[in-house]
Amino acid sequence: ALEARDVVFSFKTTPALRQASIAVEAGEILAIMGPSGSGKSTLLHCLAGILVPDSGEVWFDGTRVDTLTEEKRSALRREKFGFVFQFGQLVPELTVVENVALPLLLGGVRRAEALRRAGGWFPRLGLEGMEQRRSGELSGGQAQRVALARGLVAGPRVLFADEPTGALDSLTGEQVMDLLVSSAREQGTSVVLVTHEPRVAAYADREVMVRDGKVIAADRIAS
Ligand code: ATP
Ligand code: MG
Repeated sequence: ALEARDVVFSFKTTPALRQASIAVEAGEILAIMGPSGSGKSTLLHCLAGILVPDSGEVWFDGTRVDTLTEEKRSALRREKFGFVFQFGQLVPELTVVENVALPLLLGGVRRAEALRRAGGWFPRLGLEGMEQRRSGELSGGQAQRVALARGLVAGPRVLFADEPTGALDSLTGEQVMDLLVSSAREQGTSVVLVTHEPRVAAYADREVMVRDGKVIAADRIAS
């Protein structure tokens, strides 16, 4: 469903990806592991159409992503993809429920309907009654569950999660991962999960390693 083929990407003179190839099946939860600086985030950004590779190809459901115009790539991201990052990056000026509703509002859903759908997430987030708080009034784990709901609220085909538990202690991280996995499975959303932590990667269907800008399949890591 989502695929990068021989993707090369450099930041000015720093090579980040050297012919990286990866495929994510529909509904699959794929963990990307690897050392710091190996190219994991860069690979995620190329798959998500945020960065455009210097060479190689990115495909999503029969569409070549890397040759689309910026406008069409941004429409693809908005309509088909969801995102959650290490530090939730909630909008502090908005209430928590408005934060969850954002992708729906950007997608043209009218306000009352967007807030109703966003509000529907709060019981399973364990945040019932906190809809009208500002993001600064949540704990780190609560904020990250809100960020996850925002990433999933529009029913994306793929959720891109870069170190979604990286700022959390292990128990709080497990709560976020339980929510991520159960919600993604329910919606049939594929997940591209970047993580340092083997305990987090264990939630995935499959693991790959990135080393020196290349993807190594998990079953070949030992060799
Ligand atoms: P981490 O686990 O620390 O997040 P990563 O595997 O996600 O690391 P990337 O962020 O993809 O690694 O970085 C790959 C390479 O590209 C590294 O050498 C890094 O220094 C470089 N790099 C990443 N972002 C930039 C940037 N904005 N400008 C210049 N170089 C960058
Ligand atoms: Mg990274």
